[in-house]
Amino acid sequence: MESLNSLKTNPLEQPDDFASEAFFNQNTLEQIQQLDTSTTLNAAANVVLPTKATILDQLQRRWFCGFSERVAWSRLGHVASISEDGSSVRVECLHYNYNSKSWGLEEKVVLPTLFEDAVGLLFSGHGQDLAVVDAKGRLFIYQCSHIAVNRFVLAKSGDLDEVNDASQVIGIAWLNQDRQDRARNIVTHATKNDTRWVHTNVRAKPLGPFFPHGLVMVHHSGTVAFWYSRNDGQYIKVTQNLNIINDTLYSHASLSLSANHRMMMALHSSQGEISVCFMSIAWPASTSNETDLPTLSFSFIPSQVQAFPVGSAAIPDLYDPNSWRLSHLELSQSPEVENQPSGPVAVVAVFTGINKAHSITDPGALTGSMIRKWFLTPVQRSLHPLFESLPSKGPAKSEPTSVLTLHAQSEKIEQVIVTIHHVDGLKAYVITTTENRTDFLSSEDFSPVSFAASVAETTSMAQSGFTYPFADMNCPSFSVNACVRADVGLDDKTRIAALEYQIQGPVQQPLDLNLDAAVASLNLAFARACWSNASIDDVIMCAQHSLPHDVLPSVVVGMYRTLFRDTEFINEKTPNSELERIFHKQVMGRVMAYHAMLVAHCPQLPSIASTDGRVGSWSLSAQWAWVASNIRHTATLLFMNLRDVAHATATMSQDYSDMLCLNIRWGLAVIRWIVSTILEVSDRETNPEIFNGKSGSLGDINGDGTQGLVALLLNIHCSRVFLVAFIRAVRAYAKSAEPKTRHQLQVLQTIQAHTTGKGITFPAIEAMLEYRWTAQGDVDGDIAATTMRQLEMMATGVVPESYQGTIKILLTKLFNSPAGLRAKNLIDRLKLFTDHIDLDYIFLNRDVLGKSQDDARQGRVIYDVHRKRPIPNGVMEPGDPQELVVRHCLRCGSFSADIVVPPPDWASKGVASLLAKCICDGNWVIVPWKQYSEG
Ligand SMILES: [Zn+2]
Repeated sequence: MESLNSLKTNPLEQPDDFASEAFFNQNTLEQIQQLDTSTTLNAAANVVLPTKATILDQLQRRWFCGFSERVAWSRLGHVASISEDGSSVRVECLHYNYNSKSWGLEEKVVLPTLFEDAVGLLFSGHGQDLAVVDAKGRLFIYQCSHIAVNRFVLAKSGDLDEVNDASQVIGIAWLNQDRQDRARNIVTHATKNDTRWVHTNVRAKPLGPFFPHGLVMVHHSGTVAFWYSRNDGQYIKVTQNLNIINDTLYSHASLSLSANHRMMMALHSSQGEISVCFMSIAWPASTSNETDLPTLSFSFIPSQVQAFPVGSAAIPDLYDPNSWRLSHLELSQSPEVENQPSGPVAVVAVFTGINKAHSITDPGALTGSMIRKWFLTPVQRSLHPLFESLPSKGPAKSEPTSVLTLHAQSEKIEQVIVTIHHVDGLKAYVITTTENRTDFLSSEDFSPVSFAASVAETTSMAQSGFTYPFADMNCPSFSVNACVRADVGLDDKTRIAALEYQIQGPVQQPLDLNLDAAVASLNLAFARACWSNASIDDVIMCAQHSLPHDVLPSVVVGMYRTLFRDTEFINEKTPNSELERIFHKQVMGRVMAYHAMLVAHCPQLPSIASTDGRVGSWSLSAQWAWVASNIRHTATLLFMNLRDVAHATATMSQDYSDMLCLNIRWGLAVIRWIVSTILEVSDRETNPEIFNGKSGSLGDINGDGTQGLVALLLNIHCSRVFLVAFIRAVRAYAKSAEPKTRHQLQVLQTIQAHTTGKGITFPAIEAMLEYRWTAQGDVDGDIAATTMRQLEMMATGVVPESYQGTIKILLTKLFNSPAGLRAKNLIDRLKLFTDHIDLDYIFLNRDVLGKSQDDARQGRVIYDVHRKRPIPNGVMEPGDPQELVVRHCLRCGSFSADIVVPPPDWASKGVASLLAKCICDGNWVIVPWKQYSEG
């Protein structure tokens, strides 16, 4: 991700605050006005709410024991949930369904533990570890496989954990799994200048403490347990009690990482006091002796506050203050931004009021919630002035010392709050209420962030007009990017809902200013997910489900224009061109997957349906992004191997050699397919009778090479440069003149068999991929205009007029001219003609290519997208010989037959690591082979 670094603007030029003049401007979006809390809240106070048993039950649990999270999302996109009866935990993932063309949940995995009464779930920062806590305070830790997101292994059982009257868990947090020395990039907001949206980035120190697998848990008794995994995978516990002299019981604890690498805790005692303490973990000097354990120490800040609301002006003294009970306690630390003063630590408490008549039989009614906030602020403590005037003060100077105290800040009355979650990278909380409202409240003053809507700046999708639907909810939780909500319904099934955007009337170009800001906020969420390495599936789902099709190409163009510079899309010979950099950006796999998924099923965009009679195929724009991304991935793999396996004599396993050769073979097949398609255009002119009036293939509607996938691959500079990178890599392999090993011989033979052996040569390929053929379509001397032309071609799949002549020019000037490639025998027309390249093999994914009538007759060939060969049969899963399985991509639907990663004897660990995810950067799930082989 470092490659995006250079995109950041100078943080000093951009104030971190919102532009206050933009608040409450005349462009406030309509649907936001419906959420005017000042009116709905007054009403809420006078209404006796319908009693929902599950919610009451959940709030009651919260009142006594602060940790209850029945649904949890991971950074990888898992949704884990506790069953209605608390006996099982299920894990599901977002997955794109090609039949319904919509996002849903993959079939769930039930963890193999039978829980007595599971009450809380928490994924670790990277999303690979899942902690499950039961009502007695026992801890179970599951680890997700790096091969597939639907495989979990029990890493720590809770069966032997000590249990007593006060062992319930009231707060829990994982230690940071990031690298300590690597600053994080935070995209604070997007602002619109004259021509485009610009992201403001800041760098922040990662917060500690750090440990790959470690978590801290606070029990009702005040006992703090630190669990960490040793190198052998065994979890070890170290405990220490918060109380030194008394035996205070605590009801709530909220934990947060901090800049000074101590775990910060806000605690609520059973006496109703809120205090804050720092926990340090001291590791033994040497970890070689396993009996040397780390030690924990606590330091409380001197002040504590009474939690319950006291005669606030906001609440007329109608209710007994004791009827307000603490349900949620949140400790939040804003990230430590480099070169900026750090923001204060905030303690936020949510209380629920119960209105009860003076009658024992009255169960009472929930009246509302109150949110209170305190800042942890340093206060100067100096000696009394009289001490200063004493003649001798001793050697120690009486420097004023500073101590931290809790300072009361804003408070706010709300509808009865059921859940409150802090949102990653956003200065806001997302709350849900008993009246089924979901709202994003600013962490500054708890006002809905949508009130700050602006057409020229956005900090979040919620601010720019996306809202959650009102729906009956129990205990929802939110995806890392906060754009999908998951909840468990009364039928014990997981329900998901994406943020929605309401548009009145048809979409016009250029986009209405509010819609333009909404598109920018979506791209902001995408960029944040890229930087924080979170799954982007929820962002894609939100865009596909809530934006009209006509807007989606604009989202794609906007994304490229915001995240990249114009110079990255212009041809390599233009001065200042950075085209070749784009190949090296790690984020490209994600960017092209986002692009492809957004426009895959836009009916207004051209597709190959009219020329190839395929159904269900992606649009040409999406197919271009998919094929280009795969070419880039293949070239990356070849370069990675060259880098990692420097010694030509290194031993390569046969399996590894085969994999490399199959990738080389595939890339060369793509190039031969491009050459053949170009030659077909000329045959169509000279021998029209052979084609019998049929149009061209793959979207070439006129049959003259002006449109279609091949025209896109050559005319779009970035896909052309991916092909150049691939052919350079293959050339590097072809260089070794005297093959010394079996591996080298195999690679050389492969290259030869699939170039000259099938009618093409390196000089011919290189000449075809030269910039000059395409450059004639660029806007001469105008980088910005050329970039717009390129981006629109990428996002729509329509070749603009200026580039439509490229293939004809290639034919007349390069292929068929008197001194051209055919005359010089650099391409062999006959060999190319007899070499039939199956489109299924080019695409490796029939969901992307679409189905033709022939498919039904021939049956389905399932390709391995990494190894680029058919999968004849499923594979045996180690340890489970029951049925054959295969890996399936949750996003693009591709397959992989690698079930052991890294595969044994692979020469490069870097190449092996590419197998962890799909080409499209999507996650794998292991599925039964027969489920797909028969479809
Ligand atoms: Zn995929």
